Amino acid sequence: MLPPSWDHQPTPVTAPTPDPLTPTRDITHAHFQAGDTVVVLKGVAGGELWGDSMRIVAPSWHTPTDEDGWRLRDPTGGAQSYVTAHPRYLVHLSRRCPDCLIYLRAMEDALLTRFAGRDELIDCGWYTTTALGQLVHTADTRGGR
Ligand SMILES: [Zn+2]
Repeated sequence: MLPPSWDHQPTPVTAPTPDPLTPTRDITHAHFQAGDTVVVLKGVAGGELWGDSMRIVAPSWHTPTDEDGWRLRDPTGGAQSYVTAHPRYLVHLSRRCPDCLIYLRAMEDALLTRFAGRDELIDCGWYTTTALGQLVHTADTRGGR
């Protein structure tokens, strides 16, 4: 089950954890479109996955990977309300979409057992945001761009 909301919660504990699926996830740019509501998974909280819920605004070039990305609006993002993400970082919330559900379930299988019994908000440390508003997965920073 999806949690009722993907709202930000205070002070996550950072627990650097390998991301089992996102770096090799096969999803096309055209899978998403402007207006979709998506979540970028960040970690685990109280036995559920959590992440940042955002709305897709427009196509935008994702410079860290040199591939087509999507510009997103984070309603709670403050100074970084707009970020650009690669499609494989995104999971549909606005549509019950089989491709995204398969990914979500697989992430649950991999992570919920790993953090079973921990109640705090755990940030797996996968994403950073560059000064230019590009959201980058740790697997995509190794090229040094
Ligand atoms: Zn989808």
